[in-house]
Amino acid sequence: AEEFVAAVEAGRALNTFIVETPEHALAAADAADQERESGAVRPLSGVPLGIKDLFCTEGVQTTAASHILEGFVPTYESTITERLFLAGAGMLGKLNMDQFAMGSSNETSYFGNVLSPWRRNDGGNAALAPGGSSGGSSAAIAARMVPAATGTDTGGSIRQPAAFTGICGIKPTYGRCSRWGVVAFASSLDQAGPMARDVRDCAILLEAMSGFDRKDATSLDVPVPAWEAALNGSLKGKTIGIPKEYRVDNMPAEIDALWERGIALVKDAGAEVVEVSLPHTHYALPTYYIIAPAEASSNLARYDGVRYGLRDLPEGANLQDMYAATRADGFGPEVKRRIMIGTYVLSAGFYDAYYTKAQKVRALIARDFEQAFETVDLLLTPTAPSAAFALGEKSDDPLAMYLNDVFTVPASLAGLPAMSVPAGLDAQGLPLGLQIIGKPLDEQGVLDAGL
Ligand code: GLN
Repeated sequence: AEEFVAAVEAGRALNTFIVETPEHALAAADAADQERESGAVRPLSGVPLGIKDLFCTEGVQTTAASHILEGFVPTYESTITERLFLAGAGMLGKLNMDQFAMGSSNETSYFGNVLSPWRRNDGGNAALAPGGSSGGSSAAIAARMVPAATGTDTGGSIRQPAAFTGICGIKPTYGRCSRWGVVAFASSLDQAGPMARDVRDCAILLEAMSGFDRKDATSLDVPVPAWEAALNGSLKGKTIGIPKEYRVDNMPAEIDALWERGIALVKDAGAEVVEVSLPHTHYALPTYYIIAPAEASSNLARYDGVRYGLRDLPEGANLQDMYAATRADGFGPEVKRRIMIGTYVLSAGFYDAYYTKAQKVRALIARDFEQAFETVDLLLTPTAPSAAFALGEKSDDPLAMYLNDVFTVPASLAGLPAMSVPAGLDAQGLPLGLQIIGKPLDEQGVLDAGL
């Protein structure tokens, strides 16, 4: 733990942490030493983790990287962090992220960009995005400041940053990990999951994080398998589907090559590879960018200057003025954009045209996957349509930013387990990720294929 505490200090220029809590990690390491003497070691004894700042941590500021939550110190622990700490893990600190997890580059954080530790090898020295929204998590792992971290994924926020930084990250089946105590973005999509250097570490962490929680109404009451013990890299007898609609227009040649490499790898591991069709893929992005903002606009109504964090009380202000001033000052531009889109699609005149329609299309997208999984065990796709882009490259163009989520959003809408694993480097020496999507509750299949 001491080495990681030192690495966190040495890596401050990357801006990965919002709050550092070395004392927490060191206390867990001490406890682990004692456990080793007494022979009663827990699954994560002494492991120092980074915790995305979306997870409420008792007594430690939790901001979702927003000004509106600055100074908010939860009096309770999220179920996920509680489980990790009960398993023996410690916390090195709270990781930077896109504000309220809205973004794909970590540039919407109130606390500034996170820098990826990667650089292009062509001499282009532009700072690269670590991906988002779990960009603090991905950069801290890639820079060896933490061995592993928590992430959350609403439309790709574990998988895309993992791909951009050459690490692993898995979003489990919706309902596997409790959302209790995780600051809500879009509740029907939000899922927590682990990010780590390899598949095995992800499996170990996911086991500690998963399981039924009666405090989350959408938590699944199903047993948590011993994923790590069962890990098996053979794909003999498995059929892997290649969804043809993911061959999007203008796909860079290097992403095509990445996919071909992935296909060759799974064939080598014994799998049969077949093409499948997910006909409604094309509608996934617009569907997501209606449903996610709709739910966000509702979830973010609670930040009113009364209950949490920031309160702006101008001279002579009444309650209404206080709400307006606090929200105008507290939310960043991307968050405001989502609230505006969300309230628009939920408004009486447009509800059926946008929100109801999006819900129907979401059902069709889920059915596409169900049908594909009648003939295949897993799906293999690129995680993102590009390697990491430069900071600033897309930050003025929300649509270009949203397009980066094209391969991750469909599995989110369908609630399926999906993982990104590193799969080589592009011509600039930047990491690329492959995505494996599984049937509901088949995290084992996803992890095995990733191994
Ligand atoms: N980039 C997507 C968005 O901005 C996904 C974010 C996430 O998964 N939290 O909504």
